[in-house]
Amino acid sequence: MKILVVGSGGREHALAWKLAQSERIQTVFVAPGNGGTALDDRLVTVDVLEPEALADFVVREGVALTLVGPEAPLAAGIVNLFRSRGLKIFGPTREAAQLESSKDFAKAFMHRHGIPTAKYETFSDAAAAHAYIDANGAPIVIKADGLAAGKGVVVAMSLDEAHAAVDHMLSDNAFGDAGARIVIEEFLAGEEASFIVMCDGKNVLALATSQDHKRLKDNDQGPNTGGMGAYSPAPIVTPSMHARVMREIINPTIQGMARDGIPFTGFLYAGLMIDSDGNPRTLEFNCRMGDPETQPIMARLKSDFATVLEHACNGTLDTVELEWDRRTAVGVVMAAAGYPDSPRKGDVIDGIPQEAPECITFHAGTRLVDGKLQTSGGRVLCVVGLGDSVKMAQKQAYETVERIHFNGAQYRRDIGWRGVK
Ligand code: ATP
Repeated sequence: MKILVVGSGGREHALAWKLAQSERIQTVFVAPGNGGTALDDRLVTVDVLEPEALADFVVREGVALTLVGPEAPLAAGIVNLFRSRGLKIFGPTREAAQLESSKDFAKAFMHRHGIPTAKYETFSDAAAAHAYIDANGAPIVIKADGLAAGKGVVVAMSLDEAHAAVDHMLSDNAFGDAGARIVIEEFLAGEEASFIVMCDGKNVLALATSQDHKRLKDNDQGPNTGGMGAYSPAPIVTPSMHARVMREIINPTIQGMARDGIPFTGFLYAGLMIDSDGNPRTLEFNCRMGDPETQPIMARLKSDFATVLEHACNGTLDTVELEWDRRTAVGVVMAAAGYPDSPRKGDVIDGIPQEAPECITFHAGTRLVDGKLQTSGGRVLCVVGLGDSVKMAQKQAYETVERIHFNGAQYRRDIGWRGVK
């Protein structure tokens, strides 16, 4: 069987890497891929971007199944297009992807179906938004309604910050259409966790749990990023917490979408905030896997992922039981100089070691220039170490990180610290 993975990040490299291990797979195509997928002789990198052209490619090559990594093509309706042409694809339709592409849609949905989340209101009028902030006080959270590549959220600790965020989004139009409406919501305190499941429209299969590290610097300092590292499993999600999240958040979401006439297929990612009393609430939904959570999760998956995906496309996920490596996986992101504001491109990358059973390096913002690897984006690599404890997995990952070199490389030295604690 031939499979196509759409995307170019570390998440897509990890998905393709895992698929290529399946004996049932003849070829894994990655479009457009990156320097790492191009170097890997188990993968075929193809330079195709447009959904119509991808569908043509799939027909021409006889690709059995397509897996979409990032949110943008999903929100633009790649699944609708492929299905209208009779092509098998795993992901949500444009309508279902609104759980991620519109915060207002997601909040109204959660409200309607009794799914625990922060109290909120939606505004397009700046004066009304300012008045709401004055009435509710700080800390308070301001979010652009649409997709803003992780930059559309301001957790305002003061009233000044909150008012400035409203002006930035509504009056200065900083995010264009994506910020023409904003959601203002209650600040939630606690510990975050990523809860990712696969859905075939009716059945749900939970993946291993994980925790991301959003801030650029150690001790959760510095600006928000796309994610500086992740580890799996996340100890905060105990078996009883797992059951509770499935009961209170995931199952009502899947059932609610089906009841609303928008059955959800694809990866569903609930970003959770778990408060000090152990109550989970939903911060956000993503309609795809997380990046970098995918990298440690795929490193731990033992089951044949191609078979799992086939079941997901055929509506038979209820027959699947996943097998996981019992070890912990810690993924450390190495980012380019200037990330997240203005990442520098073109730095030469040296020292990436061969893959080993306890350490894998996934590529993101890399490209091959005359056979040499260079940086080409904000997050450059994600080095995943595996070990019997978080500490041992960290040791594996950081030993490799220290051997890799490119000018201006930035990385956190504490990925997994909550797991150690
Ligand atoms: P991404 O998809 O990149 O994770 P996003 O733009 O969809 O980000 P959210 O996940 O909703 O945004 O928020 C980003 C971060 O802001 C969260 O991971 C969390 O740390 C913080 N945050 C969001 N909502 C709240 C809230 N109500 N209370 C406290 N912190 C919050």
